[in-house]
Amino acid sequence: MKKIGILGSTGSIGTQTLDIVRENQELKVTALAVDSNIELLERQVREFLPNLVCVYREEKAIQFRDRIKDLPVKVVTGMEGLIACATESEADTQVTAMVGMIGIQPTIEAIHAGKNIALANKETLVTAGHIIMPLVKEKGVTLLPVDSEHSAIFQSLNGEDKKKAHKILLTASGGPFRGMKLSELHDKQPKDALKHPNWAMGQKITIDSATMVNKGLEVMEAAWLFDMSLDAIQVVVHPQSIIHSMVEYVDGSIIAQLGVPDMKLPIQYALFYPTRKPLLQGERVDFFKLRQLTFEAPDLDTFFGLRLAYEAGHLGGSMPTVYNAANEWAVAEFLKGHIEFLMIPTLIEKAMQQHKLINNPSLKEILNTEQETYDFVRGFTESVL
Ligand code: MG
Repeated sequence: MKKIGILGSTGSIGTQTLDIVRENQELKVTALAVDSNIELLERQVREFLPNLVCVYREEKAIQFRDRIKDLPVKVVTGMEGLIACATESEADTQVTAMVGMIGIQPTIEAIHAGKNIALANKETLVTAGHIIMPLVKEKGVTLLPVDSEHSAIFQSLNGEDKKKAHKILLTASGGPFRGMKLSELHDKQPKDALKHPNWAMGQKITIDSATMVNKGLEVMEAAWLFDMSLDAIQVVVHPQSIIHSMVEYVDGSIIAQLGVPDMKLPIQYALFYPTRKPLLQGERVDFFKLRQLTFEAPDLDTFFGLRLAYEAGHLGGSMPTVYNAANEWAVAEFLKGHIEFLMIPTLIEKAMQQHKLINNPSLKEILNTEQETYDFVRGFTESVL
């Protein structure tokens, strides 16, 4: 029996993880954490009966306690509650599927408590990779990627001498605006940006795909996960999303992982690694139907958020936090209809330009930088609107 906690159980990755639990008797859920969706959480709690539940927003936690008072489930709240879920005593693995930098502290505490991590929160490594990766080593836990590209890279490195890998080819669908120029992107609305051609995902990551900031975050995430330099990570636009990423070795051989775009595959792989379990539902790749796979270079002038990710990653220290925080704020405002699409990468750029770099930032400095960045982009936006 493998016992798991899911931080972010009502989101896209969280609900798909529970689908896998439902189909596998050998998985048990011991902790669930959510932001505020207590309607869905109630159904999950009644079905999976975890020991501990966190509802991050306190007023919702109070309502939730009342809803499930007939059950022997403890309900906690706030960051303290999130950390309690992350370190819940029975769980051996935590699926970190919350959106945004809120995932950093619980992930660090989970590792301290000896939990293995199925990582679906890329912000954690982007902003605190220099803290997380040494801690994973020190505590002897495993950290397995759930992101489809990183799972593909991980699978392509399996059984190989990692020192002989000299390049990662990180594939990108290009999102709904692939092929467009800057002048065509000004008036894009949330409903346009939310139409992802291949993947069904949460709102935040779908907008990040449209700006290609998601790919920028993934480049930085891959550098930490696989101990590769940013210059050895090349983004390849591959609109069909069948090749999920590749590794090129010193002899020129390229090993890739392919599959239909379905997050269940990388989630299940991370939960059962090194065992491959049958995935009973879902399509399979049919090459005769596909006929061709195509590739192109990313347009870094139009999707300049991706270019900025390489800059932030090269500068390192607190700069990736600035990149990420400015993006988080801007995406939330764009979804509310408050700012234009192109303001997202513009705010990232402005925030990076004004930031005074902190090398090797502590967790406290990372969280301060996050807050300062939110304040800056809010002020900057008010000044131009
Ligand atoms: Mg991805």
